[in-house]
Amino acid sequence: MALKELEKLVKYYHENKISHVYLVETNNIDACLNDVKDIAKQIFCSDKYTDNCVKCNICNLVDQNYLPSLEIIEPDGSTIKKEQILDLKRKFSTVPIYTKDNIYIIKKAEAMNQASANTMLKFLEEPEEHIIGFFITTNLNNVIPTIRSRCEVIKAMYDIHELNIDSLFDEQNKKFLDIAYKYLEKIEVEKNNSIMYNKEVVISQITEREDIKTLFKIILIIYEEFFKSSLKLNNKAQLFANMHFLSNLSSQDLLKRIKLVTTFLDDISCNVNLELLLDKFIIELSDI
Ligand SMILES: [Zn+2]
Repeated sequence: MALKELEKLVKYYHENKISHVYLVETNNIDACLNDVKDIAKQIFCSDKYTDNCVKCNICNLVDQNYLPSLEIIEPDGSTIKKEQILDLKRKFSTVPIYTKDNIYIIKKAEAMNQASANTMLKFLEEPEEHIIGFFITTNLNNVIPTIRSRCEVIKAMYDIHELNIDSLFDEQNKKFLDIAYKYLEKIEVEKNNSIMYNKEVVISQITEREDIKTLFKIILIIYEEFFKSSLKLNNKAQLFANMHFLSNLSSQDLLKRIKLVTTFLDDISCNVNLELLLDKFIIELSDI
């Protein structure tokens, strides 16, 4: 599965709502390129696409960068040259043979110089049927404005620090672990006046969306460890000695909490209001 923001393009494609060119801003260019290739596979797949389709030839060709209707352009040296764009135009001047559409991906779109951008512009100004373009960049502002203004912008942000039980106790996470402890104590032990806890414990100390995400990932790990220990799968929960109150929860209740936090983490990646989301979390938790 690609990142949610990109995955929805498959749906748009089938609803005939896909734009003919996207500018994708990302913090991880390689992960993003892979995800866009994944979107191409889902659109092109001749079988019924499932993750890592190995049945059809098309998906195999995409994986090996051999599918003629998928062109990936990367900087030749430090820039993307005019010749590379001309070459692309030539290749895409005919209707594709194996797939319904042609897709091109420009990796590091900021590396286009004036000459290649001008050539590209002509291509963009006469949008042809059956061509879908993706420009990928780490910084929208570095892409030539005339190109930028013709694209629909998508943000594809990937988790920078993948958390797990072992990295949880690292120095950089100490602050979040402390907040998680205070928050869990409030919502699981004190319980009354719960919505206030969001302001008192969370918003008063962290306001950045990414930080709140980190906090909830830590909370997820904690619930998961208590869940595993409730099933006697392991006892890493003992690492959270100061949160022993969670061991009073049944496996069922812990599982419900895990689902709630997972939903919260899905929702927070969309641009919803943070405070509303936190309040929703507390209200739903108190309903368990
Ligand atoms: Zn396939």
